[in-house]
Amino acid sequence: ALFVALVTNNQADAVICFDQTGAVVYPRPTTAANTGSTWNDRALAAQLRDAQNAESFSPETAAASYANIAAQATNTDLAARALQGQARCFALSGKKEQALETLIGVLGQERFARATDEQGRVIVPNAELRALELLNNSTNSQTQAVLRKLKEQLTNYHTSSIPSAQRRFLMRELLRLFPNQVEFPTLPAEDLAARYLDAASPSQTEPVLKQAPLPDLWQFSSAHGRVLVLHHTDALLQRLASSVSPQLLPADLKLSLLPPGKVPDQALLSMLAGPLLPGWRLALDLKERHLFETAAEQRIALYVWSGTLVLLTVLVLALLVFRLIAKQLALTQLRNDLVANVTHELKTPLSSMRLLVDTLLASPQLNEKTAREYLDLIAKENVRLSRLIDNFLTFSRIERNKYTFRFASVKPSALVEASAAAVRDRFTSPGCSFKVESGPESPVVADSDAIVAALVNLLDNAYKYTGEEKRITLTAHAQNGHVRFAIADNGIGLSPRETRRIFKRFYQVDQRLSRGAGGCGLGLSIVQFIVKAHHGDIQVQSEPGKGSTFVISLPAAETNPSLN
Ligand code: ADP
Repeated sequence: ALFVALVTNNQADAVICFDQTGAVVYPRPTTAANTGSTWNDRALAAQLRDAQNAESFSPETAAASYANIAAQATNTDLAARALQGQARCFALSGKKEQALETLIGVLGQERFARATDEQGRVIVPNAELRALELLNNSTNSQTQAVLRKLKEQLTNYHTSSIPSAQRRFLMRELLRLFPNQVEFPTLPAEDLAARYLDAASPSQTEPVLKQAPLPDLWQFSSAHGRVLVLHHTDALLQRLASSVSPQLLPADLKLSLLPPGKVPDQALLSMLAGPLLPGWRLALDLKERHLFETAAEQRIALYVWSGTLVLLTVLVLALLVFRLIAKQLALTQLRNDLVANVTHELKTPLSSMRLLVDTLLASPQLNEKTAREYLDLIAKENVRLSRLIDNFLTFSRIERNKYTFRFASVKPSALVEASAAAVRDRFTSPGCSFKVESGPESPVVADSDAIVAALVNLLDNAYKYTGEEKRITLTAHAQNGHVRFAIADNGIGLSPRETRRIFKRFYQVDQRLSRGAGGCGLGLSIVQFIVKAHHGDIQVQSEPGKGSTFVISLPAAETNPSLN
């Protein structure tokens, strides 16, 4: 009863039960045969053996002999064995009906219920199996009745005395004969218990989980050693897991048990499972490990981003500091250049003026013609000095962002005229031809003073960088919504490389030449600044030795309302 209870409730894969002396009581061993003790019975037992020997060659005689033994025997085992033999003989001689009658009717009597054969097997169930084989028809009512009765005996663990080996044999035979009508859930447990008993000689052991002598099998003995339960590893793990109440653990945790030798691969914590499960380990782990990993990943991402951000901030700051320093350096450089240039450029006209004045003062009598000549020269130096100072002031205002333009609608011809007038005196000297085309009437929006200053600067350069025979022209044309002011000369010209650089501050192609001509390398940078402020554009076409043409292009008033 314990066997079937534990096995069907899935508390064990098999059970071995012992009596007080330690002998196995279940799986029920096959008991020794009982041949009867009276003198008569012993004689009949001898006759029974004779009949058995005669069975094969003379079934009829053997049948009669068996009937005689069955009638006389006082021992039910003996009688039942004789009846079993008689039925065999009937069957052998083709008397199926009589055989069935003996197997079911006669042996079915209550008094034979516990009778056993010489091997200790209970006779009735074997007789019933034989009857079923003879009936050979799974549907008729007699077959069903016998089958039901036999099934009932095989599944009855409470009162039946069938030895386990016989029970397993009969179960298997019924499964073979009636595969769709019978099932025996305890058969695997019976088989396992039998295999265990074959492999081991069980003795009472202490209540500790141990490896059984069969692979993948564990045994556990009860406190007094009367019951030994067997578990397959997988089933044991399931049973142990289901025996832990889930309420004992926080929802996110998972508790698992690991057999000896198995290492937890991911557990948060693992420890020995205690003295009852020697070598086993309890492992605690998170149910959803990825939650943990996701949290870790998020944290790593946070660190990486913070690091990147800090790095970027440092980089940006470094860049700003670098730019600031570069700007400071450039300013210092500019100041140095300016001081050097200004002093030098101012000194030249001043010293030549002083020389002229000193000469005049030192002469005891003033010759009017010479005096006039000298004064003329002094006036020229003066103009040159004023222009230089104008350029410096303009440049200084530009650098301090203080240069303000006063835009108004102006006719290009007025600008051309004003520029020409400013230089005409000098440009009418011998060896200099100066042509002016006063240009279109359509107005431009411009600061007249600034544009005139730009044009005069270009005219000055044309004058300065031309040889003895100077041919200079100043023209203005309307073209594609623009007014183009062109200043052309037949001077020394510029190489393409120089052309790209001349608009830089303080850049001079040939310093000696420029200084001699009274320049400081600021003129073109000022021109470019003014032109850009007018949303215009300046271009140079030049060829060394042949001359240069500077073209300032300003948007015509109708296309440039924004400057109003
Ligand atoms: P600078 O005061 O030296 O003339 P600019 O800025 O006006 O300074 O001109 C820069 C340089 O460009 C000059 O030093 C000169 O070498 C060159 N340059 C300017 N205009 C001409 C020109 N018309 N022909 C040849 N070279 C020129």
